[in-house]
Amino acid sequence: MPRPIFATVHPAALGHNLARVRAATPDARVWAIVKANAYGHGIERVFDALRSADGFALLDLAEAQRLRALDWRGPILLLEGCFEARDLELCSRLGLWHAIHCNEQIDMLAAHKTQLPHRVFLKMNTGMNRLGFTPERFRAAWIRLNALPQVEEISLMQHFPDADGPKGISAHLRAFDAVTHDLPGERTLSNSAAMLRHGRELAGRSDWVRPGIVLYGSAPDFPEHSAQDWDLKPTMTLSSRIIGMQHLLAGDTVGYGSSFVAEGPLRIGVVACGYADGYPRHCITGTPVLVNGVKTRMVGRVSMDMITVDLSPVPGAGMGSEVTLWGCASTGAVLPIDDVARSAGTVGYELMCAVAPRVPFMPLAGTLG
Ligand SMILES: *Cc1c(COP(=O)(O)O)cnc(C)c1O
Repeated sequence: MPRPIFATVHPAALGHNLARVRAATPDARVWAIVKANAYGHGIERVFDALRSADGFALLDLAEAQRLRALDWRGPILLLEGCFEARDLELCSRLGLWHAIHCNEQIDMLAAHKTQLPHRVFLKMNTGMNRLGFTPERFRAAWIRLNALPQVEEISLMQHFPDADGPKGISAHLRAFDAVTHDLPGERTLSNSAAMLRHGRELAGRSDWVRPGIVLYGSAPDFPEHSAQDWDLKPTMTLSSRIIGMQHLLAGDTVGYGSSFVAEGPLRIGVVACGYADGYPRHCITGTPVLVNGVKTRMVGRVSMDMITVDLSPVPGAGMGSEVTLWGCASTGAVLPIDDVARSAGTVGYELMCAVAPRVPFMPLAGTLG
């Protein structure tokens, strides 16, 4: 028998979350962000549930090829654009739209031989200072691109650093507007947080929105809001089973470093799941976990292949009992991935992206589960 850990993707939840995006921005077209292998879910596993999106955005050319192999003929956007000149050949061949964030990418495009001119998304850096042209240099880049025969259409793109927090988006929006107000072209501004939190300020401003994490059922601004507050459903479950039991007495300890000390008699379940499966090693004693759908806590340190859980709230649990590390238990109980992420000092994004290759995914039931 294989080790009893596995992950499940929930297509119906993906469909629900996409509908939430549509309701939040009814006038914008939707790029479903499927970078990082669809936030760890697997592009092929989410494709059917998300194919009613208007386009898919990602940054790895091999992932773009996988989308075309699924027979997706609609728009695909490379969010970081091309990394080297020959990537442009693939863009021409597969009809990929690509970001332009630096002069080197314009140089490559100017030297590219193509029959079909490209659709490009010129990126402005309004203060995030990762990719993009500063407001001062943006128009010069636009004019250069606009003169190239390799360019069919220029759209304008921007990314907010603080859409999930108190600083908000106003300063960045002003910087973007000041430079672009008289430029033609479609606009794409919003990630999940901007879409959910700043819908009013952004109303009518976006031709395209770029939701990622909301599609996967995690709150972009947790803990201020939970996934439930935003009416999002979990799209991934990580499950395992109890493979060992221990009965502790007061003063007994568990695991490496003997960091957890029992205060009294305690039943402990040993779960087939560790950091080599992608469960964060930073999780501390008290991290929530479901056993038979009942909430309890992890105790002691996370090891490579195992964690240990307190079975006191689940007297019926024993060898083989179902353990839900995040997502949905068979009882229907939900453990939000954000709650687990918080115990590891990180965000839901990182957990879903980090499920290890050794964890098998359950095949999808039917096409739209
Ligand atoms: C990843 C990414 C997004 C999606 O961000 P979420 O917070 O997951 O919604 C949007 N735009 C760009 C440029 C990105 O890289």
